[in-house]
This record gives sequence, C-alpha cells and structure tokens, in this order.
Amino acid sequence: MEFGKFRTMQFPREVYVGHSVLETVVQVVNTNLRNGSVMIVTGEKTKDLAGKEVKRLLEQSKLDTNLIRTGAADEDNLETVIEESRYAGAGIIVGVGGGSKIDLGKRAAYELNIPLISVPTSPSHDGIASPRASIKRNGCTLSEDAIMPVAIIADTSVMVKAPFKYLQSGAADVISNETAILDWKLANRLHAEDFSTSAAALSQYASRELIEKAHMILPGVEESVWLVTKQILASGTAMAIASSSRPASGSEHLLAHALQQSSPGTSIHGEQCAMGSVVSMFLHGGDWQSLVNTYSKFGLSIKAKDYSITDTIMINALRTAHAIRPERYTILGESDLSYAVAERALEVTGII
Ligand SMILES: [Zn+2]
Repeated sequence: MEFGKFRTMQFPREVYVGHSVLETVVQVVNTNLRNGSVMIVTGEKTKDLAGKEVKRLLEQSKLDTNLIRTGAADEDNLETVIEESRYAGAGIIVGVGGGSKIDLGKRAAYELNIPLISVPTSPSHDGIASPRASIKRNGCTLSEDAIMPVAIIADTSVMVKAPFKYLQSGAADVISNETAILDWKLANRLHAEDFSTSAAALSQYASRELIEKAHMILPGVEESVWLVTKQILASGTAMAIASSSRPASGSEHLLAHALQQSSPGTSIHGEQCAMGSVVSMFLHGGDWQSLVNTYSKFGLSIKAKDYSITDTIMINALRTAHAIRPERYTILGESDLSYAVAERALEVTGII
C-alpha cells in the first residue's frame, strides 16, 4: 500500500514559565504584533491580579492598548469581545485570566484571525496551552476550535496568589491523563482510531510526574505552582503533537462536561476530572484506589457530596456522559449505562 500518512501540528512559538516572567509581555507583543492595537481580555478579579499590570507595562512602552473586562465564556461575552476588538482595531489579543478569559480570547482571536498570547493567572486546567476553547452556547458548554496561543506567559509569582483549589484542579486535570490514554488505546483497538505513541508517552510522562510528586503540591508554595504548570504545558504539547485533545481527554472529561451541564457552579473542571478519572479507572479494571490516594495527598476530595452534587445527578451524569461527544469513543460506550451499573461503579469507588 502506498504511504499516505500525514499530520499537522501547531505549537506556541514562545513559552515563558516561572518567577516574574510577566514583564516579558512587552517583548512578546512586539515580536508578534504586525499592525493594530493590543486588546487585553481579562476578568474582574484577574484584572487586579495581572491584567492591570500587563496594561501598564504595554502602555509604558508606547503600545496602543485597550482592556476589556468580561465574564463567563459564553456566546454573548464572546460577541462583545469580538466586537470591541474589531472596533479598537486589535492586531493581537492578550488573554489574562484563569480559564474562561483565555477561552474567550482564544476563540475571538480565531474568528478575527489575529494572534493570541495566553497569560494564565491560575494553573487550573490545561486549556492555557491548547488550541481549543470551551464556550457556552444555548446552555451547553462545548469544546470548540480556537487558536493555539502564539506565546504563553505563565508567571508563577502571579499564579501562586490564586486559591489553592485551582492548583489542585490543574494537577487533577493532568493526572486524569491516565484514563484519557486508556480510552484512546481502547478507541484505537475497537474503532481503529489514529493513535500517536509519542503524544501518549508525553501525556503519560506528565501525569506520572505529578503522581510521583503529589505530596509536593502544597498551598501558597510557588514551587508547587511551577511543578504543576510545567506538566500542564507538557500535556498541552502532547495535544499539539496529536492535533487533538485525545491524549488528555477521555471518559473522565466526558463526565466532567456532563457535570458542568447538570450541576453548574458546584465544582470546577479539575475536581470533576478527578471524580471522572477514578470511576473511569474502575470501569477499565485499573488501579483506581491508587488514583484516590494520589488525590488525597494534595487534599483533593473525590466525594460528590463535598461538591454538593447529589447521588442522582452523579449517577445520571455518568450514565449519559457518552452522548456529550458521541464521536469520542471511550469506556463509557455508545449507549447509556444502566442505572445499577453506574450506581455500583460510583459506590464502590466512594464517589457517592
Ligand atoms: Zn481538562
């Protein structure tokens, strides 16, 4: 058979991670801005954490800079960001925030065909380094195509000020690569889905690093932020190699998305992924207990009641999660799990 394989990969051009790297934003903007002004997309709290400082640095070096304070990553806010950026003649967007602001920036930059710089203010999930954005449309949050950040500026001295739950969440998002890879291998075996050994190896390296060093994930310690952020970036690179979120998103993420829909505001992404990875590991027949132990080392609960999620919501989320993204084949299969099976899996693992 004739050789016909091909792959496209997109990577950030520059990554700055560590203590006080925020000031590199001037140089990074100057390298990547071809024409037009700079639009900073930030939030109410993240403006004070870093947004204002980014604006001051850029203005100091005489760059025409605008700032928009926005809210959740939904359709309306996205429209506003796009309109204001267009009106201001933005030639580049700097997303400064935890997750939703970067998602809005990423999708707006994609639609406006301009570059985006990602400046995370918390290490809460791996979206800070991926070309996908979670946007809520008609009450449903789905992952959409967006732009790969041209640069990432992850300042650990800024991120350490974010509440500890965001660091726990970011760590869990990476650790849950364990089940994402099992699902990917399953889809490769059963559905002949393309599998990248190098992407899976890197994704697993990231999760294993954090599993091994879980006891070093501590509140208020900048080195802990460094530890987790490095592996978030490695996870992002694995997704870039695969040109897909597959290496870092399987059944645990389907459950996370289902919970996001059925009980919004109760828990954050990584907390949902942690619960998802434990039950998914159980369904795969793997060592789910050691995942529970790992999460407990940095104080992350996998009990639904600790997030005020009722047993019924949890059971139904697990039963129906497969339908969120039917093209993503996982251990959850292609039809609803029975109530009894879902209930048992969640009870055995101690989630409910
Ligand atoms: Zn995730």
